[in-house]
Amino acid sequence: MESNRLISSNKNYLQILNAKTIVIKIGSSILIDPKKNILKNKWLNSLLDEIAFLKKNGKNIIIVSSGSIALGKSVLNLSSNKLKLDESQASAAIGQIKLAQAYDLILKKYNIYTAQILLTSDDSQNRRRYLNIRSTFKSLLKMGVIPIVNENDTVATEEIKFGDNDRLAAQVALITEANLLILLSDIDGLYDKDPNINPDAKHLALIKEVTRKMLNMASQTTSENSKGGMVTKLEAAKIAMNGGCEMIIANGLKKFPISNFIFEAGKYTRFIPKSDVKTLRKQWILSIKTKGKLKIDKGAIKALMNHKSLLPAGVIESFGNFERGDAVEIISKNNEKIGQGLSGYSSFDVLQIKGCKTNEIEKKLGHPGRVAMIHTDDLVLI
Ligand code: GLU
Repeated sequence: MESNRLISSNKNYLQILNAKTIVIKIGSSILIDPKKNILKNKWLNSLLDEIAFLKKNGKNIIIVSSGSIALGKSVLNLSSNKLKLDESQASAAIGQIKLAQAYDLILKKYNIYTAQILLTSDDSQNRRRYLNIRSTFKSLLKMGVIPIVNENDTVATEEIKFGDNDRLAAQVALITEANLLILLSDIDGLYDKDPNINPDAKHLALIKEVTRKMLNMASQTTSENSKGGMVTKLEAAKIAMNGGCEMIIANGLKKFPISNFIFEAGKYTRFIPKSDVKTLRKQWILSIKTKGKLKIDKGAIKALMNHKSLLPAGVIESFGNFERGDAVEIISKNNEKIGQGLSGYSSFDVLQIKGCKTNEIEKKLGHPGRVAMIHTDDLVLI
């Protein structure tokens, strides 16, 4: 199988070998035949063969795929490139079924299940929804499923739109704490000038900071179906790098796009962040103003020191009024601050379940609830 090439290419490209969680964004311009507005099936089969290979080798993979509007357009016989909002939304509703089905059918051959996740930008800005999305992603990845993500175009209006799947993919990379985001597109990466009009434009292989000059220079794409040009890709890079995630822009036009870009050195651009995801996230958690305190017992302190989550059983008392997702201080019996974290429960719920074993939570709350009071990823010890 062609994907076996990835084994040897891993030696060339260690980031893929090291990354545990990878988000792969697929642009309409490489997935959809621009003349017929239909899926390029052979190409998709080749990509999913590579993805199945990465999955079998222990990677968590999340796919962010465009293409619903283009596919819906062909069903509705709409030819215009500038659809009205309601036409885009109707096309997306029709095309999304076909899009998700295509991924599902192919990945089934590898015994891999897929799940559809449709998001709008305000989903990730609202803290409760953000936590819900994150825990759904976590569960799916734990179950070995590949989430297929797209913007929820049928409900998105101008104000709530991500506007393009490049930025959506960067948000998803941060939500899932991915180590690597790959944008597969019809361009080789970033140049110092627009390569379409400047034959002497130099390809840039490594970027450590997205500057204003780069953003000014970036020109809009001329592709018919995709919304994002180089500008949105650079904005995605800024989001990803600020969140500690490496990003790659690579040309995905040919079959077996992942092994291709790894092999053809110089045909992609890497955007490398200054610090890694974990460090940045911990800094962020410590910087949030706390809304309450959780007093915990010795057993729980020991568990936290062993990188375990804080369970309701270890909580002795709760102070203050807070919602699920708010930051709280974690204190010992002697009122010493031990750490800080994002609470998985509101203060109201904590009062019901503090000291409870996991199997007693449902009875107390009247619904199943979550196992952790504070998940280990949401917790920083001082
Ligand atoms: N969500 C759009 C679609 O599926 C694509 C947006 C984009 O290409 O960035 O058609």
